[in-house]
Amino acid sequence: MASTESPAIHSLAVFSTQPYDRQYLSAQLTTQFGDASPFKIDFYTVSLTPLTAKLAASHTAVCVFVNDILTAPVLQHLASLGVKAILLRCAGFNNVDLLAAKSLGFFVAHVPSYSPEAVAEFAVALIQTLNRNTHRAYNRVREGNFALHGLLGQTLHGKTVGVVGTGRIGLCFARIMRGFGCRVLAYDVYKSKDFETEKLGTYVELAQLLQESDVVSLHCPLLESTRHLVREETLAQMKDRALLVNTSRGGLIDTKAVIQALKAGKLRGLALDVYEAEAPLFYSDHSGEVMQDEVFARLMTFPNVIVCSHQGFFTEEALGEISAVTVGNMVEFMEGRGRVARNSLIKD
Ligand code: NAD
Repeated sequence: MASTESPAIHSLAVFSTQPYDRQYLSAQLTTQFGDASPFKIDFYTVSLTPLTAKLAASHTAVCVFVNDILTAPVLQHLASLGVKAILLRCAGFNNVDLLAAKSLGFFVAHVPSYSPEAVAEFAVALIQTLNRNTHRAYNRVREGNFALHGLLGQTLHGKTVGVVGTGRIGLCFARIMRGFGCRVLAYDVYKSKDFETEKLGTYVELAQLLQESDVVSLHCPLLESTRHLVREETLAQMKDRALLVNTSRGGLIDTKAVIQALKAGKLRGLALDVYEAEAPLFYSDHSGEVMQDEVFARLMTFPNVIVCSHQGFFTEEALGEISAVTVGNMVEFMEGRGRVARNSLIKD
């Protein structure tokens, strides 16, 4: 929204703050403005929920991350407190009810791209770990066990890798896998010119990709149309003993169906950087607690499952870019550029 009516002094309430958020955002403000920052920031470690929304009072904008849930009631609460802008310090925006945000006149901006290579490289790291069992080897050697049984992998060169979603991250991922000497198959509802001109691989229908790929990596956004894209029927279409990797959004996979596929030996392995019920778990230390999530607990029993807590983005370069773009989004909001702002998610 055009924010000419906003108070002269702007302030930003940052939710789900981790130490690195504070470090990088503060450093970005100092780099850009020295001691004359045009807005002030308050950092809150709690996530944004119906209970914590009141902390946003007296702020003109909130800055949120992947597991802050901005439903219509939360947005209404924020609007009633005078908040006018939602700044996501991430690319995905499946956690914001954009229709409600639009009707309430919010300015909503995200960070569309921050080191897509960081996430693509992380997907490759997961594939390599899962395929060659380096996670198991690490533990064994530290315990004086130098046996190789159970560590057998496959040579990736010459294997077929399926990329679902050839946007910024999927494209980087396809380039890396090409470099490994893999045959790349891709599925996307919109074909990427770069993918075709760089001759990274071949676009096929999803069913063919699933039937032929030794490794399937998910890089499409979570939308109603992509929720549980991997489910019982699509798992059945997959090549036997394929590896499945998800660094995109947890909701793309029906976790219970994937557990059945792992039990049946249909999948050779599963690597997740994201999990459909990650919000109560990820980004905090629960090591002293009893795991309440039965599905997650079952996942942890498989030797061929790796789960990381949504860290694909987590590089120094990406944190720098996220902070720079987030501060830029705040400045665009303050300058009243509203829906013409570069990273606005609501454009008329
Ligand atoms: P992007 O928008 O550049 O690309 C997404 C691609 O998915 C587009 O080409 C789009 O056409 C395609 N797509 C849309 N619907 C599809 C469908 N039904 N089937 C197949 N493809 C479909 O996004 P990106 O920057 O490449 O990011 C991809 C996803 O990665 C994001 O949506 C986000 O959820 C996730 N992500 C994760 C991390 C992490 O830390 N693990 C970090 C950043 C982004």
